Amino acid sequence: MRNLNAVIAADTAAQAKLNQTVQMIGEALNSEVCSIYLLRDGVLELFATRGLNQSAVHVTRLAMGEGLVGTIAANIETLNLAEAAAHPDYAYKPETGEERYHSFAGVPIIRRERAVGVLCVQHAASRGYDEIEIEALQTVALVLSELIANANLIDEHASASGPADQSAQTLTGLKLVDGMAKGVAVFHQPRIVIEHTVAEDVEVERQRVYTAFVRMREQIDRMANQAEFGGGGEHDEVLETYRMFAYDEGWSRRINEAIDSGLTAEAAIERVQQRTRMRMRQIDDPLLRDRMHDLEDLSNRLIRIVAGQMQTAAQTGLRQDSILIARNLGPAELLEYDKRRLKGVILEEGSLTAHVIIVARAMGVPVLGRVKDIRQRASEGDMLLLDVARGIAHVRPGTATLDAFDSQLALTRKRRERFAAMRDEAPVTKDGVRIELMMNAGLREDVAALDLTGADGIGLFRTEFQFLVSATMPQRERQQRLYRDVLDAAGNRPVIFRTVDIGGDKALPYMRNDAETEENPAMGWRALRLALGREGLMKAQARALLEAGAGRTLNVMFPLVSEPWEFEAARAIFVEQRNWLASRGKKLPNAIRYGVMLEVPALAEMLDALLPHIDFLSIGTNDLTQFLFAADRADPRLAERYDWLSPAVLRFLSRIIVQSNEARVPVGVCGEMGGRTLEAMALIGLGLRRLSITPTAIGSVKAMIRSIDTRDLEAVVQPLVRQGNRDIRQQLTEWAEGQGVELGV
Ligand code: PEP
Ligand code: MG
Repeated sequence: MRNLNAVIAADTAAQAKLNQTVQMIGEALNSEVCSIYLLRDGVLELFATRGLNQSAVHVTRLAMGEGLVGTIAANIETLNLAEAAAHPDYAYKPETGEERYHSFAGVPIIRRERAVGVLCVQHAASRGYDEIEIEALQTVALVLSELIANANLIDEHASASGPADQSAQTLTGLKLVDGMAKGVAVFHQPRIVIEHTVAEDVEVERQRVYTAFVRMREQIDRMANQAEFGGGGEHDEVLETYRMFAYDEGWSRRINEAIDSGLTAEAAIERVQQRTRMRMRQIDDPLLRDRMHDLEDLSNRLIRIVAGQMQTAAQTGLRQDSILIARNLGPAELLEYDKRRLKGVILEEGSLTAHVIIVARAMGVPVLGRVKDIRQRASEGDMLLLDVARGIAHVRPGTATLDAFDSQLALTRKRRERFAAMRDEAPVTKDGVRIELMMNAGLREDVAALDLTGADGIGLFRTEFQFLVSATMPQRERQQRLYRDVLDAAGNRPVIFRTVDIGGDKALPYMRNDAETEENPAMGWRALRLALGREGLMKAQARALLEAGAGRTLNVMFPLVSEPWEFEAARAIFVEQRNWLASRGKKLPNAIRYGVMLEVPALAEMLDALLPHIDFLSIGTNDLTQFLFAADRADPRLAERYDWLSPAVLRFLSRIIVQSNEARVPVGVCGEMGGRTLEAMALIGLGLRRLSITPTAIGSVKAMIRSIDTRDLEAVVQPLVRQGNRDIRQQLTEWAEGQGVELGV
């Protein structure tokens, strides 16, 4: 490293420095070939080589993605190959004379998170390279990035896709948190460009990193102590994961090792981060990948502390309505923003289960994820429009797009205001029938929507959400705390807790699950099946719910019940726990009501045996319809394959509703179907009087309810369903429009 530093610091031309570097690396690694390719005019050009034909220098050129070198740059990945020609991307360049060399190792040279070149070595013998050799190459690549920038060898702002296009663009992405937003582009982090990569004094660098770690840990601890969302709950768990990383000894050790190799503190952190990023790409588990983003968040924070450039856009402050752009955000970073001005977020990465998304949802900030190259396509201050429902972001929109968006936004706002104004009005039909309109929830923060929407209560509280957002299995005390807080917030409005619906596709990283080998996880070892199989889990949850419900009415329901005996077995666990608490003289719920979710068609055939034993029934149409039609609910290709307003669905539901009503057992629908106005109207026409829906739909469904007369509705819906017409949707729409029913579309 010292020699390399001398080469770079010497008063020689850039080309000479590159030539000396390849000689030096070649000698140090004892490799016959060492080459440097740099990006020029969007193409990777051989700039210096030891071992390949010198006549190929500035002649051999590879496009991004072409050959091994192009692949390394395009994917920003490292390749380590004992037999280069065996790699599918190998492209033979005869002018280089490289056919003699069998093994190949190459690393990207990265500047501002983009590959600007490739450093590689080759050996005649077929051999794999050791970890330590790869690390040495990565270190040199980091130093080279400094040299290349200082020598103006590459155009810093030219990217592989050419200079930034200033025209209007529409980008697509993944819907993470629904909503519409308008604002100017603000980059979360003004990029920190590492100016010095080679350490002058290793001890000084060591000390700088040590101090930075101390400061970072203080910051995280402080953040944890002043968690914004009422303390406790999911955010606690987010910050716990954070703290775990911040105090991780392995991480600080790797950074110190990089400093030992001669890098500055900034470069060492960056190098360790690059490696983590590369590893992250190979991880298949999305939950684990999300946790790795938390580590990346911390790593960025550490570099900023070391470099004394702590300011993110959150700290400099948002001056106007803004849409934040970031590759990825940590939850803590998002929490630092001024909520009044932060209108939306666009991420290059991001996934539904990431902590930051849970936080964004709680803050009510729309998020579009996986927007490719957003940081290259938009510039600071550009006007941005975000329409998450359609999965798009407009960059520098033209007047026509802007006008259309503005009127849509105004419409949405007006509708929202109208619905908000209806908050205190009861969901009563024109003929005086009171519909129970409840909402679905799963996180502590969702409960706030009860007051905002005026919902009658929580008809489905998905308790597995707490398990999904936790880094470790939530213990009974933590569960109990959440349930109690939810009940406190709900006051005298009922809350129906559903016991955990985990397993299948909602696998928990910390719980070994046989489901990994399941071919059909939705029909597999999940929900109540898993809970009854793991009695400890169910007992702990039963106890947590009973304790939280002390002195009030506790409503519990069980998911995915297939046969009545499963309900009996689940209730027996609650009864046993209740008796145990009673024998200790503990305070108990005043009443416990047990309910069942009807999601498995077979259970519908057993209602006569089940209904006398339960206090309420809740129809989970999401699962029920996927089983009824044998159509995976998560597969977008099948989304159009069945209609909730098809006669098969409505006849099936009609039987359940009628039978429950006759048995005087309250019955509701808690699947997504109930949140759509036309579908909800049809359900009421079948005799349903209770709905539990997503909070954002409460306003529109309430408006629909207040505009119907159940007698007229029943007279039209029931014959249609009996006749089994295929076009019920169309006929109901026409009827509703004729009657002036508010469908909110
Ligand atoms: C359902 O299946 O309809 C339901 C409400 O449960 P979940 O969506 O959580 O499976
Ligand atoms: Mg379900």
